[in-house]
Amino acid sequence: MSLSYVTPSPSSPWSTYLSQVERVVPYLGPLARWAETLRRPKRALIVDVPIEMDDGRVCHFEGYRVQHNMSRGPGKGGVRYHPDVTLEEVMALSAWMSIKNAAVNLPYGGAKGGIRVNPQELSQKELEKLTRRYTSEIGIIIGPQQDIPAPDVNTNAQIMAWMMDTYSMNVGATATGVVTGKPIHLGGSLGRVKATGRGVFVTGREAARRIELKLDGARVAVQGFGNVGSSAAELFAQAGAKIVAAQDHTGTIFNPNGLDLAELMPVVRAEGGVGGYKNAERIDNEAFWDIDCDILIPAALEGQITAERARRTKARLVLEGANGPTLPEADDMLADRGILVVPDVICNAGGVTVSYFEWVQDFSSFFWTEDEINLRLDKIMVGALKKIWDTADRHHITLRTATFAVACERILMAREERGLYP
Ligand code: GLU
Repeated sequence: MSLSYVTPSPSSPWSTYLSQVERVVPYLGPLARWAETLRRPKRALIVDVPIEMDDGRVCHFEGYRVQHNMSRGPGKGGVRYHPDVTLEEVMALSAWMSIKNAAVNLPYGGAKGGIRVNPQELSQKELEKLTRRYTSEIGIIIGPQQDIPAPDVNTNAQIMAWMMDTYSMNVGATATGVVTGKPIHLGGSLGRVKATGRGVFVTGREAARRIELKLDGARVAVQGFGNVGSSAAELFAQAGAKIVAAQDHTGTIFNPNGLDLAELMPVVRAEGGVGGYKNAERIDNEAFWDIDCDILIPAALEGQITAERARRTKARLVLEGANGPTLPEADDMLADRGILVVPDVICNAGGVTVSYFEWVQDFSSFFWTEDEINLRLDKIMVGALKKIWDTADRHHITLRTATFAVACERILMAREERGLYP
């Protein structure tokens, strides 16, 4: 255990985030005096989550909710269930939410939660108990005006329904606005499930135009074929691109002529991954990074693009569907090689943007059509990306540092205007 919880362990997501902050400080002007705010989460809660298993044993899981910054509004960010979840990881994810929410100008701070658990090993009943107990434990810091969780890795609309119900039962009133990503008939929003993938597509479409890469016929490799990766792949395929490779925890599949998604998706849903799909060549996982492709979409977990893999990739454009997929040394390597990276903090912001729409709809109890949602999402993403691109061009910096510059200026301006109290 390090001396302080903000001291990063080497090559952890938190150390990646801190080095991204260092790169933006020179562009913050007088606001730089507040920069330490960015290096310290406002609040981090660690909770014990005991549940009685189906066989009568009592098991304890470790849960977290970190509120990185709330200067611009309530905390906002997902909850992830994964065996590798740590406090340090959740800290990084919460910080990236602060940057992301400010980059698209949503009236939110940044937060994130997680439980160290392998949900595949739990029954549905155990999963429900875990979710309800965790929600009760973090209930002291979440709320529709305090901090609003949402789905992330291995969590979904059903889990959000249990969270909403538990919170509501505990406060004695139905509070749909306490979580987003809920089922539609419980105050969820149309378009939310596919929103993150749609945002990846929209930012990718804009970036491709800038580098004069035609989507029609472009070859796309996707790592992570969950909600984000598969939704983005479908939209790219609709635009005429060929999905030449897909990788997830069940393996890597490759077809230079493009995978047939209509055939692949039911297999992924039924078997929990791409590995069971037969009509494609099965290749070694590491060979994924050498594939001939124009667009690479990392949509799995953090730290996947190492400097070594960045040196090997043939892609011209990297679209970060995942949070924190690229290590800082890899970022430099990609920049040196002239490969354009649309960073996570703008690329995957479509999910939280439609979460914001959901929250607004819940408060007004007036629901929008899917077309309205997709149009508004497109407009917000295009506008945010344009401002980031202008900043990048002005300072000759990468899109990542430019996104941090736009976002940190908003966060620290709010910090300064509000002042320190007490
Ligand atoms: N988990 C998603 C993300 O990383 C969405 C968070 C939200 O909708 O609050 O951006």
